[in-house]
Amino acid sequence: MKDKKGVMDWYFKFNLLYRILIGLVLGALVGIIFGESIAWLNPLGSLLVNLLKMIVMPVILSTLVVGAASINPSSLGKVGVKIIVFYLLTSAFAVAIGLLMGNIFRPGLGLELGVAAEAAGKELVKPSFINTLLNIIPTNPFASLTSGDVLQVIFFAIIFGITISYLKLSKNETIKKSGEVLFDVFNGLAEAMYLIVQGVLQYAPIGVFALIAVVFGKQGAKAFGPLGTVTVASFLGYILHVAIVYTALLMINKISPKAFFKGARTPMITAFVTRSSGGTLPVTMKAVDEEFGVDKKIYSFTLPLGATINMDGTAIYQGVCALFIGFAIGMPLSFGQQITVILTAVLASIGTAGVPGAGAIMLLMVLNSVGLPVTAGSPVAAAYAMILGIDAILDMGRTSVNVTGDMVGTWIVAKSEKMVDESKLR
Ligand code: ASP
Repeated sequence: MKDKKGVMDWYFKFNLLYRILIGLVLGALVGIIFGESIAWLNPLGSLLVNLLKMIVMPVILSTLVVGAASINPSSLGKVGVKIIVFYLLTSAFAVAIGLLMGNIFRPGLGLELGVAAEAAGKELVKPSFINTLLNIIPTNPFASLTSGDVLQVIFFAIIFGITISYLKLSKNETIKKSGEVLFDVFNGLAEAMYLIVQGVLQYAPIGVFALIAVVFGKQGAKAFGPLGTVTVASFLGYILHVAIVYTALLMINKISPKAFFKGARTPMITAFVTRSSGGTLPVTMKAVDEEFGVDKKIYSFTLPLGATINMDGTAIYQGVCALFIGFAIGMPLSFGQQITVILTAVLASIGTAGVPGAGAIMLLMVLNSVGLPVTAGSPVAAAYAMILGIDAILDMGRTSVNVTGDMVGTWIVAKSEKMVDESKLR
């Protein structure tokens, strides 16, 4: 008995990131060695897929409500509008860069994991553009929740969240209190969901091992290539976004990119190693204050908001991975589907919490929106598992970009408001 506890102790104490990577490598080896006969491991993989799917809808609902409710409408003056527009526009650029990388590198092409039946059906009944837009408005939000209609849930969650932030500001004490209670309830729900995610992730190494073993059992060693391509495409996307979009925006606003990157170095590295924009926040604030001389009135609002809703790296990653999964199941995403990805990935990045691995959960939502739901035993689930296996590596890069975007936006908005103490610039 005592011995058994020792083994589990070792399992839980060992860094999760390494455990998942080991699961990936062992799964690949076992798959290559045993070939198709390893298919009996499938249920262990399906267990992970089902556990993840279980939390998707509650996570989307709670995090988006909290995200939208965290924006205080009274602070939505000029600064608020400017920073939100900045955050949204750069995120849209980011997904576009991700999609561009995906289209150039075509990760997953030739993997032939099999066509997902759901996806094949979806293509046939393509609704018109106007209907797609109209369909975003749920006629019954509860039905959208149970049927898993992601865009409708997002729409409702954002409206609901904004309304809560208004309730919280009401002069009527009762209404104000109910707004606060609602906020606390959804915040509690979001926190609880992330705790469940942490728990589910404890099982991820085993689930990833099983899913990957089955994929490599069928595909052999050639499945390594696409994973390398996803990594290269994502990191190139991250680098291009920083080197082109951010640098151009800084220069347009007459801020020296050299001064920026010199001051931004510490938060960028901290984000890379912690894989959490939320966790990096104190370091980001210190840098923006001491290195760039931004007024506290600006960054105390824009940085926490950025760490909650502005995730450009995550948006790039979602673009690349959505394309990867399309190629891997032999159903490359159509142009229309890619446009949908831009929309949902921006929204998904808003709903992504600034904690390690959150982007991978929100990827499920992006996949749903293009008719590629991750269902146990499906080719989409196999492709998704491959991504999950290397997620920690992709997360490092995307978190670093997420934090960099917050700092660029903050400095630019502060400068436009003349709220920068230039004397602090060395
Ligand atoms: N880890 C990322 C962050 O904290 C979120 C993600 O998983 O994409 O910014």
